[in-house]
Amino acid sequence: MERDVNIEEVGLRDGLQSVDNFFPTELKKAWLTAEYEAGVPEMQVCSFVPEKLIPQFKDASEIVAHALTHPGLRVSCYIPNLRGAENAFKAGVHVAGNVISASEGHNQSNVRKSVAESVEVFKQIVELRNSNNDWKSIRLCGGIATSFGCTIEGPVDPTAVERLAAMYVEAGADELSIADTVGYANPAQVRDLFTRLTPVAGDVPLSAHFHDTRGLGLANVVGALEAGVRDFDACLGGLGGCPFAPGATGNIVTEDLVFMLESMGLKTGVDLDKLLEAREILVNNLPNEPLRSAIAQAKTPIGFAPASA
Ligand code: ZN
Repeated sequence: MERDVNIEEVGLRDGLQSVDNFFPTELKKAWLTAEYEAGVPEMQVCSFVPEKLIPQFKDASEIVAHALTHPGLRVSCYIPNLRGAENAFKAGVHVAGNVISASEGHNQSNVRKSVAESVEVFKQIVELRNSNNDWKSIRLCGGIATSFGCTIEGPVDPTAVERLAAMYVEAGADELSIADTVGYANPAQVRDLFTRLTPVAGDVPLSAHFHDTRGLGLANVVGALEAGVRDFDACLGGLGGCPFAPGATGNIVTEDLVFMLESMGLKTGVDLDKLLEAREILVNNLPNEPLRSAIAQAKTPIGFAPASA
C-alpha cells in the first residue's frame, strides 16, 4: 500500500502513560492487533521505564513480542535512558525514541539534567546500539519536547530547537520527532519551525507530535504538511494527557486525523471504519477515561470518499 502520510499510533504509550489503572495485557494486544488490521503502519507500543515508576508498562517486553508477530508493522517504543534502551534492544523493537526538551527548565525538571547532558546520554544509547550486530538495524529517534512552548519557561526560541536538532543529528539520530508537548503551537508557528528545521535535519526524517490541548492539533498538522512533513503521531480516542505537562489533554485523535487526511486526498492506508471498531476496545474497557473524536461522534459526512479506498 502506497501511503502519502504515515500515521504512528502512540496511544499504547503516550495515552496509557497517564492511565493509572493497569490496562490488561490481553486488551493491549487486542487494541494493537485491531489497529494493525485497520492499516496503521507504525505503533509506539510501550515505554521501557522501571516498573516502580510507571507500573502500566511492566508488560513492555511481552507487548513488543506480540507487536512483532504482525508482518510489516513498524514497532517503536519510548526509552528514557541507557538501561531502558538496552531492554528495548533486547526486546527487538524496530525504533526506539528518546526525548529531550528544547527548554532547559523543562528538561531540568523532568530528568534533572541539562540539555547537553541529555545529549551525552543519547550518544551512549547510539554507542550501545552500534556495539551489537543484532541491534544495528534499530533506528533511534530523537524527540524534542516543548518545541513550541513550555509550561515553565513560556515561549521557546526556535534557535534552541534548531540547536538541539543539530546536536541529535551529530550524535547519530536516525529520525527526529518534533513535539508540542503542552499544546502551545499554532499552525503558522508549526510551518515556520519545520521549514527552519528541514535543512538542519538534512537526510534525517522529521515527524510531528501534537497535543490537542488548545484545540489546534489538526490545524497544526496542516501547518506541518505545508512544510513537507509526512509523519504524524496520533492517539486513538485522544486518550490520555501528558505526564510532563499537567492539564494538557492528549494527543491528536487518530480517527479524526485519518478522516482529515483522507478527505484532503492524502492516502494514509488506514480504513476509518475498522479504526472506529478498534476504538470500541477503549470505549468498552476504559469507562473512566475521557475519549475524544469528532468523527466517532458525528460519523462521516454523506459522500465521504477516502483517498485510500
Ligand atoms: Zn506527547
